[in-house]
Formats: sequence, C-alpha cells, structure tokens
Amino acid sequence: MPKRKLSEGEHPEKFKTSGHWSLGLLKTMEDPKFIVQSDNLTTVIKDAYPKAEFHYLVLPKQNLSNLKEITKEHITLLEHMDRVAKELITDHKHKSKTFKIGYHAEASMFRLHLHVISDDMNSICLKTKKHWNSFNSDFFLKSSDILLDVKEHGKVILPSKDACKKYMELPLKCHKCDYKPKKYPRLKKTHFKTFEIKFKYRLVLLKFGRCLD
Ligand code: AMP
Repeated sequence: MPKRKLSEGEHPEKFKTSGHWSLGLLKTMEDPKFIVQSDNLTTVIKDAYPKAEFHYLVLPKQNLSNLKEITKEHITLLEHMDRVAKELITDHKHKSKTFKIGYHAEASMFRLHLHVISDDMNSICLKTKKHWNSFNSDFFLKSSDILLDVKEHGKVILPSKDACKKYMELPLKCHKCDYKPKKYPRLKKTHFKTFEIKFKYRLVLLKFGRCLD
C-alpha cells in the first residue's frame, strides 16, 4: 500500500484497488457501523478519528475527489450537503452543542467531504497543533462561503499552498478566549479542564441564584 500522499496528477481511481489510506472514506461509506444516514445524493458517516464529541462527514455519492473538482454544475449538490448537515445538528442529542460546518482547504482524504463538528474540540483523537488549526483557522472553509464562491465564480477559490502551510503553523489560541498556550497538550490538559471546572462552577452558582461574572 503506498504510504505517501497521492500527488496532484494521480487520480484516486488509479489506486482504488490498492487500499491506499487516502481512500479510506470510500470504505467507511459502506460500513453500517459508521453510516448515520443516507439519501439518493449523500451518505453521512461518523468520522473514524473524531476531533470533537460529535464529528460527522457528509459525502456525495457522486465521485467527486475534492473541492478542486467543483463547478457551477455542483451547486445543487453542495446546497443539499449543506442542508443535510444543518438538519443533522438539529437532532436532540446535539441540543447543547454548537457546530461548525465546513471543508478543509486541503483535504487529505478522497471523496469530497463536509465536516460537521461540535466546537467542544473534546476528543482523544485531537492530538496536535495541526489538528487544532485545521478546524480553528481559515484553513477551515465554511460551507456557506464555499457555496457563495461557486455561485459567484463557478469554482471554489482556495487559499494557496503557502497560505495553507501558514494556517497550520499559526500559534495556538483557544477558540473561545485569549489563552495562547505554547504547546497543544497544555491547551488540552490545563485549559479545557479549567473550562470544564468553570462551567460546572457556574452551573452550581446559577443553581444558588448567583452569577459568576
Ligand atoms: P480531511 O481530509 O483533512 O478533510 O479530513 C479527513 C477526515 O477523515 C479526518 O477528520 C479523519 O479523522 C477522517 N478519517 C480518516 N480516515 C477515515 C476512515 N477510514 N473512515 C472515516 N473517517 C476517516
């Protein structure tokens, strides 16, 4: 199985039977353990390495590799994917959550996929600054902005390779406050715990009719 990433010119079809890791989503799309729902145009799966408490991927059944293949022809499909994502998050089990819906500017896996991710970022699979920045910088392209791009320009205007690299290298910053830890484990171990405690403390105070602020 090739260990390297498939490069620009290499169409994933060529590797379809090789079990290349970057084609993993195609397999998962057929695995009932991961399928959340499906319709004539899309399949929704659970992300196998979720980066938050809830992390889904909406994939088209049409064989589209990534955002670079998107043209005006796909507007209806993109709108449908956006709608599926928005409906998904209305489920009662997501009631207390806020979600982000969007695409990575440079996806690592084949078959176009729309991330639907709760913004708690609470997961043992979220281990690195790259993981963090891929959801908390302009590397994460909002589904609504992608739609605007395609409607206006007939294609998705993607950030350059250099810009993507810069987004990945941005200093860490909490997405909910100004905390700027040097290393990701610090953000995860100290800050999120603090958040959790603060949150619980706030609930207790509220219960007794007092406000924390
Ligand atoms: P990206 O290509 O960067 O937009 O993200 C790919 C997403 O697919 C990541 O969130 C991974 O955790 C997830 N992933 C990787 N391999 C699999 C797999 N075999 N099945 C389901 N999800 C996967």
